[in-house]
Amino acid sequence: MRSLVLEDTRRLAWHDVPDPERRHEREAIVRPIAVATCDLDQPMIFGQTPFAMPIHLGHECVAEVVEGPDRFAAGDRVVVPFQISCGTCERCRRGLTGNCASVAPLSMYGFGALGGDWGGMLSDLALVPYAEAMLVPLPDGVDPTVVASAADNIADGWRAVAPALAEQPAADVLVVGGRGSIPLYAIDAALALGAASVTYVDTDAARLAVAGELGAKVVEGKPEHSLGAFPVTVDGTATPEGLVATLRLTEWGGRCTSIGQIAPEGTLPLFELYTRGVQLHIGRAMARPAIPAILDLVAADRLRPQLVTSATIAWDDAADALLEPATKLIVQRS
Ligand SMILES: [Zn+2]
Ligand SMILES: [Zn+2]
Repeated sequence: MRSLVLEDTRRLAWHDVPDPERRHEREAIVRPIAVATCDLDQPMIFGQTPFAMPIHLGHECVAEVVEGPDRFAAGDRVVVPFQISCGTCERCRRGLTGNCASVAPLSMYGFGALGGDWGGMLSDLALVPYAEAMLVPLPDGVDPTVVASAADNIADGWRAVAPALAEQPAADVLVVGGRGSIPLYAIDAALALGAASVTYVDTDAARLAVAGELGAKVVEGKPEHSLGAFPVTVDGTATPEGLVATLRLTEWGGRCTSIGQIAPEGTLPLFELYTRGVQLHIGRAMARPAIPAILDLVAADRLRPQLVTSATIAWDDAADALLEPATKLIVQRS
Protein backbone atom coordinates (compact mmCIF):
# COMPACT_ATOMS: atom_id res chain seq x y z
CA MET A 1 0.00 0.00 0.00
CA ARG A 2 1.02 3.66 -0.26
CA SER A 3 1.85 5.87 2.71
CA LEU A 4 2.88 9.53 2.74
CA VAL A 5 6.23 9.97 4.49
CA LEU A 6 7.92 13.11 5.75
CA GLU A 7 11.47 12.06 4.92
CA ASP A 8 13.13 15.29 5.99
CA THR A 9 12.25 18.96 6.40
CA ARG A 10 9.92 19.95 3.53
CA ARG A 11 10.47 16.58 1.81
CA LEU A 12 7.29 14.51 1.41
CA ALA A 13 7.01 11.35 -0.69
CA TRP A 14 4.64 8.44 -1.13
CA HIS A 15 6.28 5.18 -0.11
CA ASP A 16 5.21 1.62 -0.86
CA VAL A 17 4.97 -0.19 2.46
CA PRO A 18 3.55 -3.59 3.50
CA ASP A 19 -0.19 -3.75 4.23
CA PRO A 20 -0.96 -3.97 7.96
CA GLU A 21 -2.21 -7.40 9.04
CA ARG A 22 -5.02 -8.19 11.43
CA ARG A 23 -3.63 -10.69 13.94
CA HIS A 24 -6.14 -10.50 16.79
CA GLU A 25 -9.93 -10.51 17.09
CA ARG A 26 -9.91 -7.12 18.83
CA GLU A 27 -8.08 -5.41 15.94
CA ALA A 28 -9.45 -3.68 12.87
CA ILE A 29 -8.02 -2.67 9.53
CA VAL A 30 -9.39 0.66 8.32
CA ARG A 31 -9.07 2.71 5.15
CA PRO A 32 -8.77 6.47 5.80
CA ILE A 33 -11.13 8.46 3.56
CA ALA A 34 -10.77 12.01 4.98
CA VAL A 35 -7.61 13.12 6.78
CA ALA A 36 -7.19 16.51 8.45
CA THR A 37 -3.92 18.26 9.18
CA CYS A 38 -3.21 18.65 12.88
CA ASP A 39 -1.82 21.94 14.17
CA LEU A 40 1.51 20.11 14.59
CA ASP A 41 1.71 18.61 11.09
CA GLN A 42 2.98 21.69 9.28
CA PRO A 43 5.42 22.62 12.06
CA MET A 44 6.77 19.04 11.67
CA ILE A 45 6.96 19.45 7.89
CA PHE A 46 8.73 22.82 8.20
CA GLY A 47 11.27 21.48 10.71
CA GLN A 48 9.94 23.50 13.66
CA THR A 49 9.43 20.60 16.08
CA PRO A 50 11.92 18.34 17.85
CA PHE A 51 10.25 15.15 16.52
CA ALA A 52 12.60 12.80 14.67
CA MET A 53 11.98 12.03 11.00
CA PRO A 54 11.01 10.00 9.02
CA ILE A 55 7.35 10.39 9.98
CA HIS A 56 4.42 8.60 8.34
CA LEU A 57 2.12 11.62 8.36
CA GLY A 58 -1.51 12.00 9.34
CA HIS A 59 -3.28 11.27 12.60
CA GLU A 60 -6.74 12.81 12.28
CA CYS A 61 -9.16 10.88 10.13
CA VAL A 62 -12.48 9.38 9.31
CA ALA A 63 -11.99 5.91 7.89
CA GLU A 64 -14.00 3.01 6.50
CA VAL A 65 -13.73 -0.31 8.27
CA VAL A 66 -12.21 -2.95 6.00
CA GLU A 67 -12.12 -5.80 8.49
CA GLY A 68 -12.73 -5.85 12.22
CA PRO A 69 -14.61 -7.26 15.20
CA ASP A 70 -18.22 -8.44 14.66
CA ARG A 71 -19.67 -5.16 15.89
CA PHE A 72 -18.36 -3.49 12.74
CA ALA A 73 -19.36 -4.19 9.14
CA ALA A 74 -17.08 -3.59 6.19
CA GLY A 75 -17.69 -0.05 4.96
CA ASP A 76 -18.78 1.37 8.35
CA ARG A 77 -17.51 4.93 8.71
CA VAL A 78 -15.67 5.71 11.93
CA VAL A 79 -13.58 8.42 13.56
CA VAL A 80 -10.20 7.00 14.56
CA PRO A 81 -8.81 8.80 17.63
CA PHE A 82 -5.14 9.65 17.20
CA GLN A 83 -4.11 8.16 20.53
CA ILE A 84 -3.92 4.39 20.93
CA SER A 85 -6.03 3.26 23.90
CA CYS A 86 -7.21 -0.12 25.18
CA GLY A 87 -10.37 1.15 26.87
CA THR A 88 -10.03 -1.25 29.79
CA CYS A 89 -6.99 -0.26 31.86
CA GLU A 90 -7.51 1.88 34.95
CA ARG A 91 -6.40 5.08 33.18
CA CYS A 92 -8.60 4.48 30.13
CA ARG A 93 -11.60 3.81 32.41
CA ARG A 94 -11.00 7.23 33.98
CA GLY A 95 -11.02 8.81 30.51
CA LEU A 96 -7.24 9.22 30.33
CA THR A 97 -7.05 7.49 26.97
CA GLY A 98 -3.93 9.41 25.99
CA ASN A 99 -2.16 7.82 28.93
CA CYS A 100 -3.24 4.20 28.27
CA ALA A 101 -1.19 1.81 30.41
CA SER A 102 -1.50 -1.10 27.94
CA VAL A 103 0.75 0.53 25.35
CA ALA A 104 4.01 2.49 25.41
CA PRO A 105 3.72 6.12 26.64
CA LEU A 106 2.59 8.60 23.93
CA SER A 107 1.45 5.81 21.58
CA MET A 108 -0.24 7.55 18.65
CA TYR A 109 -0.45 7.65 14.88
CA GLY A 110 1.54 10.05 12.76
CA PHE A 111 4.36 11.19 15.04
CA GLY A 112 7.18 8.90 13.86
CA ALA A 113 9.34 7.32 16.54
CA LEU A 114 7.84 9.55 19.26
CA GLY A 115 4.43 7.90 18.93
CA GLY A 116 5.62 4.38 18.08
CA ASP A 117 5.29 2.22 15.02
CA TRP A 118 1.59 2.78 14.29
CA GLY A 119 2.00 4.43 10.90
CA GLY A 120 0.17 7.51 9.62
CA MET A 121 -3.36 8.05 8.37
CA LEU A 122 -2.24 9.38 4.99
CA SER A 123 -2.00 5.71 4.08
CA ASP A 124 -4.25 3.33 2.18
CA LEU A 125 -4.77 1.21 5.31
CA ALA A 126 -4.13 1.44 9.05
CA LEU A 127 -4.26 -1.02 11.92
CA VAL A 128 -6.45 -0.16 14.93
CA PRO A 129 -5.28 -2.38 17.80
CA TYR A 130 -8.33 -1.95 20.09
CA ALA A 131 -11.16 -1.38 17.63
CA GLU A 132 -14.13 -1.54 20.02
CA ALA A 133 -12.52 0.86 22.49
CA MET A 134 -11.19 3.32 19.95
CA LEU A 135 -13.48 3.57 16.92
CA VAL A 136 -16.47 5.93 17.08
CA PRO A 137 -19.16 5.37 14.40
CA LEU A 138 -20.06 8.38 12.29
CA PRO A 139 -23.72 9.44 12.70
CA ASP A 140 -25.82 9.22 9.53
CA GLY A 141 -25.62 12.29 7.38
CA VAL A 142 -22.35 13.65 8.82
CA ASP A 143 -19.80 14.45 6.11
CA PRO A 144 -16.43 12.77 6.83
CA THR A 145 -14.52 15.88 5.70
CA VAL A 146 -16.33 17.98 8.33
CA VAL A 147 -15.30 15.82 11.29
CA ALA A 148 -11.93 14.34 10.28
CA SER A 149 -10.30 16.62 12.86
CA ALA A 150 -12.52 15.26 15.65
CA ALA A 151 -9.83 12.59 15.99
CA ASP A 152 -7.58 15.21 17.63
CA ASN A 153 -7.87 19.01 17.18
CA ILE A 154 -11.66 19.43 17.51
CA ALA A 155 -11.48 17.24 20.62
CA ASP A 156 -8.62 19.41 21.85
CA GLY A 157 -10.65 22.59 21.46
CA TRP A 158 -13.58 20.89 23.17
CA ARG A 159 -11.67 19.80 26.25
CA ALA A 160 -10.20 23.30 26.59
CA VAL A 161 -13.65 24.61 27.57
CA ALA A 162 -16.06 21.74 28.33
CA PRO A 163 -14.88 20.88 31.88
CA ALA A 164 -14.63 24.57 32.82
CA LEU A 165 -18.12 25.35 31.48
CA ALA A 166 -19.53 22.33 33.33
CA GLU A 167 -18.13 23.91 36.49
CA GLN A 168 -19.13 27.50 35.61
CA PRO A 169 -22.12 27.33 33.21
CA ALA A 170 -22.79 30.31 30.97
CA ALA A 171 -19.42 31.87 31.80
CA ASP A 172 -17.71 34.49 29.67
CA VAL A 173 -14.80 32.79 27.90
CA LEU A 174 -11.53 34.22 26.63
CA VAL A 175 -9.62 32.35 23.92
CA VAL A 176 -6.13 33.61 23.11
CA GLY A 177 -5.10 32.39 19.66
CA GLY A 178 -1.71 32.57 18.08
CA ARG A 179 -1.43 29.46 15.99
CA GLY A 180 -3.53 26.76 14.42
CA SER A 181 -7.07 25.53 14.56
CA ILE A 182 -7.53 24.38 18.17
CA PRO A 183 -8.36 27.82 19.61
CA LEU A 184 -10.97 28.23 16.85
CA TYR A 185 -12.55 24.89 17.68
CA ALA A 186 -12.57 26.00 21.35
CA ILE A 187 -14.71 29.03 20.36
CA ASP A 188 -17.18 26.77 18.56
CA ALA A 189 -17.36 24.34 21.49
CA ALA A 190 -17.75 27.10 24.10
CA LEU A 191 -20.70 28.68 22.28
CA ALA A 192 -22.34 25.28 21.68
CA LEU A 193 -21.93 24.52 25.40
CA GLY A 194 -23.70 27.72 26.46
CA ALA A 195 -20.92 30.21 27.16
CA ALA A 196 -22.41 33.69 27.63
CA SER A 197 -19.77 35.08 25.28
CA VAL A 198 -16.42 34.21 23.75
CA THR A 199 -13.74 36.83 23.22
CA TYR A 200 -10.97 35.84 20.79
CA VAL A 201 -7.61 37.63 20.66
CA ASP A 202 -5.10 37.13 17.85
CA THR A 203 -2.95 39.08 15.42
CA ASP A 204 -3.71 36.92 12.37
CA ALA A 205 -6.39 38.36 10.09
CA ALA A 206 -7.49 35.01 8.62
CA ARG A 207 -8.01 33.37 12.01
CA LEU A 208 -9.77 36.48 13.34
CA ALA A 209 -12.19 36.31 10.41
CA VAL A 210 -13.01 32.66 11.16
CA ALA A 211 -13.40 33.46 14.86
CA GLY A 212 -15.90 36.19 14.00
CA GLU A 213 -17.83 33.85 11.75
CA LEU A 214 -18.00 31.32 14.57
CA GLY A 215 -19.60 33.96 16.78
CA ALA A 216 -16.71 35.28 18.89
CA LYS A 217 -16.10 38.93 19.75
CA VAL A 218 -12.76 39.46 18.05
CA VAL A 219 -9.91 41.60 19.30
CA GLU A 220 -6.97 42.16 16.98
CA GLY A 221 -3.77 42.42 18.95
CA LYS A 222 -2.06 40.95 21.99
CA PRO A 223 -3.73 39.67 25.16
CA GLU A 224 -3.52 43.02 27.02
CA HIS A 225 -4.58 43.73 30.59
CA SER A 226 -7.30 46.10 29.36
CA LEU A 227 -9.41 43.12 28.18
CA GLY A 228 -10.50 42.53 31.77
CA ALA A 229 -10.82 39.22 33.59
CA PHE A 230 -12.60 36.05 32.46
CA PRO A 231 -13.69 33.07 34.56
CA VAL A 232 -12.74 30.64 31.76
CA THR A 233 -9.65 31.17 29.62
CA VAL A 234 -7.81 29.21 26.95
CA ASP A 235 -4.17 29.77 26.09
CA GLY A 236 -3.70 28.78 22.46
CA THR A 237 -0.44 30.61 21.94
CA ALA A 238 1.83 27.66 22.72
CA THR A 239 4.37 30.08 24.19
CA PRO A 240 5.34 30.62 27.85
CA GLU A 241 4.71 34.39 27.50
CA GLY A 242 1.27 33.78 26.02
CA LEU A 243 0.43 31.45 28.87
CA VAL A 244 1.41 34.07 31.47
CA ALA A 245 -0.63 36.74 29.68
CA THR A 246 -3.65 34.42 29.58
CA LEU A 247 -3.28 33.51 33.26
CA ARG A 248 -3.28 37.23 34.09
CA LEU A 249 -6.59 37.62 32.24
CA THR A 250 -8.14 34.79 34.28
CA GLU A 251 -10.62 35.90 36.96
CA TRP A 252 -10.00 35.21 40.66
CA GLY A 253 -10.83 31.51 41.14
CA GLY A 254 -11.11 31.06 37.38
CA ARG A 255 -9.82 28.27 35.22
CA CYS A 256 -7.20 28.47 32.47
CA THR A 257 -6.44 25.63 30.05
CA SER A 258 -3.20 25.64 28.12
CA ILE A 259 -3.60 23.59 24.96
CA GLY A 260 0.09 22.95 24.41
CA GLN A 261 3.68 23.84 25.08
CA ILE A 262 6.84 22.48 23.54
CA ALA A 263 9.11 25.01 25.28
CA PRO A 264 11.06 22.97 27.83
CA GLU A 265 10.78 25.64 30.54
CA GLY A 266 9.07 28.91 31.42
CA THR A 267 8.40 31.21 34.36
CA LEU A 268 4.98 31.53 36.00
CA PRO A 269 3.78 34.31 38.36
CA LEU A 270 3.31 31.83 41.19
CA PHE A 271 2.47 34.22 44.04
CA GLU A 272 -0.10 35.98 41.89
CA LEU A 273 -1.69 32.66 40.88
CA TYR A 274 -1.67 31.56 44.52
CA THR A 275 -3.29 34.68 45.88
CA ARG A 276 -5.95 34.78 43.16
CA GLY A 277 -6.60 31.02 43.27
CA VAL A 278 -6.34 30.54 39.53
CA GLN A 279 -6.58 26.94 38.33
CA LEU A 280 -4.23 25.97 35.50
CA HIS A 281 -4.65 22.83 33.46
CA ILE A 282 -1.78 21.98 31.13
CA GLY A 283 -1.61 18.69 29.32
CA ARG A 284 -2.39 16.78 26.15
CA ALA A 285 -6.00 16.32 25.05
CA MET A 286 -7.66 12.99 25.76
CA ALA A 287 -9.36 12.66 22.39
CA ARG A 288 -11.44 9.48 22.58
CA PRO A 289 -13.92 10.45 25.35
CA ALA A 290 -14.74 13.79 23.66
CA ILE A 291 -15.56 12.41 20.20
CA PRO A 292 -19.16 11.12 20.67
CA ALA A 293 -20.44 14.44 22.05
CA ILE A 294 -18.71 16.31 19.22
CA LEU A 295 -20.27 14.10 16.54
CA ASP A 296 -23.73 14.50 18.09
CA LEU A 297 -23.42 18.30 18.09
CA VAL A 298 -22.19 18.33 14.48
CA ALA A 299 -25.11 16.09 13.48
CA ALA A 300 -27.44 18.60 15.21
CA ASP A 301 -25.71 21.48 13.36
CA ARG A 302 -24.63 23.06 16.66
CA LEU A 303 -20.90 22.72 15.97
CA ARG A 304 -19.56 24.01 12.67
CA PRO A 305 -15.98 22.78 12.24
CA GLN A 306 -16.31 23.26 8.49
CA LEU A 307 -15.89 27.03 9.07
CA VAL A 308 -12.31 26.35 10.24
CA THR A 309 -11.32 24.35 7.15
CA SER A 310 -8.96 26.28 4.86
CA ALA A 311 -9.18 23.92 1.87
CA THR A 312 -10.09 20.38 0.87
CA ILE A 313 -7.53 18.68 -1.35
CA ALA A 314 -7.40 15.51 -3.40
CA TRP A 315 -5.53 12.52 -1.97
CA ASP A 316 -2.94 12.41 -4.73
CA ASP A 317 -2.18 16.13 -4.33
CA ALA A 318 -1.30 15.86 -0.62
CA ALA A 319 2.49 15.75 -1.00
CA ASP A 320 2.52 19.19 -2.68
CA ALA A 321 -0.49 20.77 -0.97
CA LEU A 322 0.81 20.16 2.56
CA LEU A 323 3.78 22.41 1.81
CA GLU A 324 1.49 25.47 1.54
CA PRO A 325 0.86 26.97 5.00
CA ALA A 326 -2.82 26.72 6.02
CA THR A 327 -4.82 26.58 9.23
CA LYS A 328 -6.62 23.33 8.36
CA LEU A 329 -6.36 21.17 5.27
CA ILE A 330 -8.59 18.18 4.64
CA VAL A 331 -7.25 15.48 2.36
CA GLN A 332 -10.10 13.58 0.74
CA ARG A 333 -9.89 10.22 -0.97
CA SER A 334 -11.84 10.26 -4.22
ZN1 LIG B 1 -2.25 16.30 16.53
ZN1 LIG C 1 -5.79 1.64 28.40
